[in-house]
Amino acid sequence: MNREQTIARYLARSLDSEAVEEFEAHYLGCDECFEELRVTERLVQDLRSSNLAWKQNGGISVLRFRANAELTQTARELDQLRREVLEQSDSRVIVDLSRITRIDSAGLGQLMGCYTHLVRNAGTMKIVNARPEIRKILDMTGISALLPHYRDEQDAVRSFEEA
Ligand SMILES: [Zn+2]
Repeated sequence: MNREQTIARYLARSLDSEAVEEFEAHYLGCDECFEELRVTERLVQDLRSSNLAWKQNGGISVLRFRANAELTQTARELDQLRREVLEQSDSRVIVDLSRITRIDSAGLGQLMGCYTHLVRNAGTMKIVNARPEIRKILDMTGISALLPHYRDEQDAVRSFEEA
C-alpha cells in the first residue's frame, strides 16, 4: 500500500487497528505524510459539504440540492448524487430537481442508475419539481415513463401512499 492509499483508508477508517497505530506513530514525525493527510482531509471535508441535503417526510427520504446545479458530465453534483443514493437500499427516495438548471446524457444516466440501484434493493425513487426545460428532456428521452415525475413533493408522497 502506498502513502496515498494508506491515508485514504485511514480517513475512511478502513485500516485495521494495527495499521492505524502504525500510521499514527509515523505521520506525526513525517512532514510529508502529515501534510498529505491534512490536504486529503480537507478534500474529504469538501466532499462531505455536499450540495445535497436529505430530509424525511413520513418515512420517505427526500433528497434536494441546496443551490442551483447542473447534472452534467463534469458537475460535482453528479458524483454526489450517485454517492448519496448508492448508500441507500430499501428506501423510498424522492429526488427534488427544482435546483437543476441543466441535464445531459450523463445526468440522465445517473438518475437511471440511482433508480435501478434502489429498485434492485427493494426501494424506489421518484423525481419531483423539475423545471419545464428539464421536464421536457425527461419526457423526450422516455425517462419519465420509467422514473415517474411528480409536480411536487406532496404529490409524490401521496403516490407512495396509494401504491
Ligand atoms: Zn511518511
